[in-house]
Amino acid sequence: MNIKFCNQCGHEVKYQVPEGDDKPRAICQSCYTIQYENPKIVNACIIEHQGKILLGKRTIEPRKGYWNVPAGFMENGESTRNGATREVKEELLADLKNITLFGVYNIIQRNQVHVYFRAELAHENYGPGAETSEVKLFAPEEIPWDQLAFPVGITALKRYIKEMQTGDFTIKEEDIIIDYEMLKQYNFNS
Ligand SMILES: [Zn+2]
Repeated sequence: MNIKFCNQCGHEVKYQVPEGDDKPRAICQSCYTIQYENPKIVNACIIEHQGKILLGKRTIEPRKGYWNVPAGFMENGESTRNGATREVKEELLADLKNITLFGVYNIIQRNQVHVYFRAELAHENYGPGAETSEVKLFAPEEIPWDQLAFPVGITALKRYIKEMQTGDFTIKEEDIIIDYEMLKQYNFNS
């Protein structure tokens, strides 16, 4: 129940179940436009270079100052793959090769679907771009797990590290359950 006003005419909306539907929708009380709310897609990419993982440190909330797998909301007019490579370029100023699907993670509590790719650095040029203060390659044993930004990134990265030991990469679809009590202990603020 997030929407208050019509995106077409600005009049107030009311949540009602449209005829033939089974869920309340934001319906404009003037022009009767229905605004549907659907999950958002986030694209991300785990980047490997000579056995190390490239991570960026966030300069924005949520989780400012924490390390993260490059990720961001998908834009209209792009593919999931293009979204992931665009985020990598924007945040880490890096180019990729050998891009492959790695996992699909549903965060039902946030109405988000995260599509994770894996890739290698195309060349050794990288650095802090938008929303990033520092970019660094981490050997698996150097990854600062308690300074990673988000549970989904931790889940994906843990599987990646495990699978890179044998080189037998899989593609998985998983639900990420957010434990809000646990997040409080780690000072997650969102
Ligand atoms: Zn309207």
